[in-house]
Amino acid sequence: HAKENGKNNYQFFSDEMQSTMFHKVQLENDLREALDNEEFILHYQPQVEAATGKIIGMETLIRWQAPDGTIISPAEFIPLAEDTRLIIPIGKWVLHNSCMQAKKWHDAGHTHLKLAVNLSPLQFMHDELMDTVQDVLEATGFDASSLELEITESVAVYDAEKTIARMQALRNMGVRIALDDFGTGYSSLVYLKKFPINSLKIARPFIQDMVDNPKDKALVEAIVSMAHSLELSVIAEGVETHEQLTSLKTLKCDEIQGYFFSKPLAAETFASLINKKMDSINMR
Ligand code: C2E
Ligand code: MG
Ligand code: MG
Ligand code: MG
Repeated sequence: HAKENGKNNYQFFSDEMQSTMFHKVQLENDLREALDNEEFILHYQPQVEAATGKIIGMETLIRWQAPDGTIISPAEFIPLAEDTRLIIPIGKWVLHNSCMQAKKWHDAGHTHLKLAVNLSPLQFMHDELMDTVQDVLEATGFDASSLELEITESVAVYDAEKTIARMQALRNMGVRIALDDFGTGYSSLVYLKKFPINSLKIARPFIQDMVDNPKDKALVEAIVSMAHSLELSVIAEGVETHEQLTSLKTLKCDEIQGYFFSKPLAAETFASLINKKMDSINMR
């Protein structure tokens, strides 16, 4: 209570809050420098056809390699990059570099690989998005129809009409759209009806528990069948065990992604994986 603390109480922020803010400001500065100094790296996680075990694409996942060698995960810095709008130039860098990389893999003969790139809500809604995507596709020569942009349902919270129009504009360019982390956000079936999307990614928590919890399994089954009725393809995220894979195959889930098959990999490691004969990998 202010009165108890007396007239000297000008302490708006607790020490803890102050140090958190200090930490944030420092992190923001580091993030700016990271962009200038190209300290970001891209990893690629295989996306696999459930029925055959064939790698059919990869999701780009950014990492920050700090000068002292530590790797910082996107979960730690993407939210701050959003707050500070640094996600705009960072996102442009991600799109450009991953399309350039994927183009090399296409040129090496792996033309069937599709590239999935995450867009945060701010990036998706940003005025320059259409120009950015167009410029990157032109500059890298990467085929629009091999590019899939992953967004979460939360984009629609701000402006559903604008979201739909933007999705449609991207689709008109030939780009695919996936709804990421499906089932965890403000999932509305109205959005599923209205969004011009190509695929749904079932969020990891459902996959994690589907083998032990019949309710999770029932939800996964329902999501797959609903998606197929809407002519959407379905990919399961965070598949870690053979039991999960078996169950997902039974439920006719189209694609899987997760540590069971592979963690996100550095570009060189991903390249050696796609250059191996895929039938040597035990997916059955
Ligand atoms: P996301 O798009 O849902 O990506 C999936 C996350 O799950 C990745 O975490 C991936 O490494 C992790 N993962 C994949 N398989 C498994 C598994 O079997 N088990 C477990 N426990 N985890 C698995 P990551 O790389 O830390 O990325 C976290 C989030 O950060 C991403 O979630 C995405 O929302 C965001 N993000 C990553 N890269 C970018 C980017 O380039 N741009 C934007 N805007 N966001 C990004
Ligand atoms: Mg995808
Ligand atoms: Mg994603
Ligand atoms: Mg996800």
